[in-house]
Formats: sequence, C-alpha cells, structure tokens
Amino acid sequence: MQITGVTQHHLSHQLDGHFEPTWIPGYPQSSHEVELFEVETDAGITGLCASPSFAGGLSYETPLSLFLTGEEPHDVDAIRRKLESIDLIGPRPWHLELALWDIIGKDAGKPVYELLGGSGDAIPCYASTGEVQAADERIEYVQDRVDEGFQAVKLRVAEKEDVEVVRAVRESFPDLPLMVDANKGWAVRVMANEERWRYKDALEVARELADIGGIEWFEEPLPRHDYEGYARLREATDVPIAGGEFNDRPGELYRFLDHDALDVLQPDAALATGIRAGVSVAEAAEEQGVEFVPHTWTNGIGFAANLHVMAAAGSPWCEFPIEPPWTPEVRDFLLEGTFHHEDGYVTPPDGPGLGVELDGGVLG
Ligand SMILES: [Mg+2]
Repeated sequence: MQITGVTQHHLSHQLDGHFEPTWIPGYPQSSHEVELFEVETDAGITGLCASPSFAGGLSYETPLSLFLTGEEPHDVDAIRRKLESIDLIGPRPWHLELALWDIIGKDAGKPVYELLGGSGDAIPCYASTGEVQAADERIEYVQDRVDEGFQAVKLRVAEKEDVEVVRAVRESFPDLPLMVDANKGWAVRVMANEERWRYKDALEVARELADIGGIEWFEEPLPRHDYEGYARLREATDVPIAGGEFNDRPGELYRFLDHDALDVLQPDAALATGIRAGVSVAEAAEEQGVEFVPHTWTNGIGFAANLHVMAAAGSPWCEFPIEPPWTPEVRDFLLEGTFHHEDGYVTPPDGPGLGVELDGGVLG
C-alpha cells in the first residue's frame, strides 16, 4: 500500500457563546478551529487525523504531501522519523501519525486498541473544566456533573487565590475526587500572559491542596520542561503531581520518568507522542508505578486516538472535557457521531481504525 497524497481542510465551528480557557489567558474562545487531514492511499483507504488550530488556519498540505507520498503507511516508525524533520522547518506533525493508525486499522478491519493489545472496556471519566469560575457557579456545575454520573471533576486554578474555589467545592462535595490543573506547563499568550509560578508558589498551592484533601492530582504547576522542579515538588508534598500533556516527543516524557518527577504522566497522543510512542511511554510509566492518564482536550479525532491509547494502556481515568458552551458536540463537530459518556464511563470506538466518520456536511 502507498500513500498517494494529503488533503487538508481548515474547519471552524461556532460555539453558542464563549468560554475563557485558562490556557489562553484573557481570550474569550467562541469557535473551535481544527486542521483536518485526509491521508489517501492507493488501496482506497483514507486515514483521518486532526490538530488544534487558530483563527485563520495553518496550512501545510503541500509539504506534508511531499513528505508522505509514496510511503507505505504501515511503516509507522520510518514515517515518524520523516515527520520529525517537518518539525524542524514548520508545524508540529505528530498528529499525522494518527492517520497511519486509522489506515492500518481499516486495512486490518480492526479497532486500533485491538491492534495495540487493548480491551474495549469502558473507562471511568472525570469531567474536565476549562475556566476558573466563582465558587457558587462552580459548585452548581459540579452538582450537574455528579448528577450525570461523573465520578470526579477537574478544576482549574490560574492564580494562587483560585485555590479557594477548590476549597469551596470540597466543602460542598466532601467525598468527590478532585483533580486540580494550574496550566503552568504552557500557554497560548495571544492576549495576555499567564500568572507565572516559581517553585515556592507551586509548593504553597500544593500544601493548600493537601490541607483540602481528596486531591487526585495537582497538574502542571510548573513550566513543562522544569523536570528538576517537578521532582523537588513531588518530593516535598503528598499530593500526587501530574504533567507532560504537551511535552514534545517521547524523549521528554522519559525525562519525567528519569527524574522521578511525576505520579501521573499525561502525554496527549495528538499533541505529544502519536499513538505508538504513547503506548511505549505508558508501558515505561507502568514499570515505574506512574499512572498514565493522557490529556484529551483537542477534537473528536484526537479524543478517539487517546481513547485507543488509554484502552491499550489500561488508564484509570479518561479526561472528558465539558465546559459549556464547550460541549461534547462542539468537541466532536467534525464527526458524524458524538462521544458521550454513559453514567460516567466512556467506551473506546470499536469500528475499524480510529473508528470515527466525518460528519457529512463538514467538508462543505
Ligand atoms: Mg492540563
């Protein structure tokens, strides 16, 4: 089989209102922008993948076609090495690897998780918020999620004072597992800078969280390449420390393991590793007793890819983004169906490949 070309589409979907993601400080997000790629083959099989984008789009269809045309899609590692050189001259290309697995799975007539040795069992979900809200508003949100069957909720803290919202939620829900994400690993600084934390700020918040109790993990309290800082923090607190969602390439994830820096490793297959390396990193994490719970907040194709990796890795949690107007339907607008949770569990798709179909109208 040979790849015959790549077609790129910039897709934009309007939200019903806006929300203010902590990872784009000061930016009211009112649309979901995606670059969708179709990797075509001479076998008539097309692989799908997608990457997050921004207003106006980011076009790199021509270089991708030059790099990929003529390649045999099953040669995942060789193609990945080629894609690494795209990273030298332009955009991050890791998401392209997802399309190879879509082709490989469709060719084999099997879901990707099965090719990776995983099971199709349902995975428990935690509801993942996207913004900081006032305590009363957030308590209402958490009640809605608990009523829907979610078994845990992840809250955001942009500034140190936001830990008071976590405390208020804890008082209303004494037994609910809570994750807390500081989003200090990276930020899109288009409107404003995030509040930067030094080690002692992160430690101060970690101590507050330890006092609040029942914290499943404290996520990205430091810049994503500060491996030593993460290791020191983990040493100094009993609150589990999480990170690595956007660390570029597997080597950076192994550095977290080498430094004994994390309790929970979170590389997103669509942003950091691709599928094969994601599974390899998960295996290495397991050997060290580190949990593997990937970030999933991209789009429906990225969510599906991470579900396959989670199914192969036996992840204990699935991040389920929900911050209205950012809903599952908005996340998955490019797909024919929507990934819903059922009573707090989500099941990996069991169709061939990634198991997703494009929405009929999305390509216009
Ligand atoms: Mg995060």
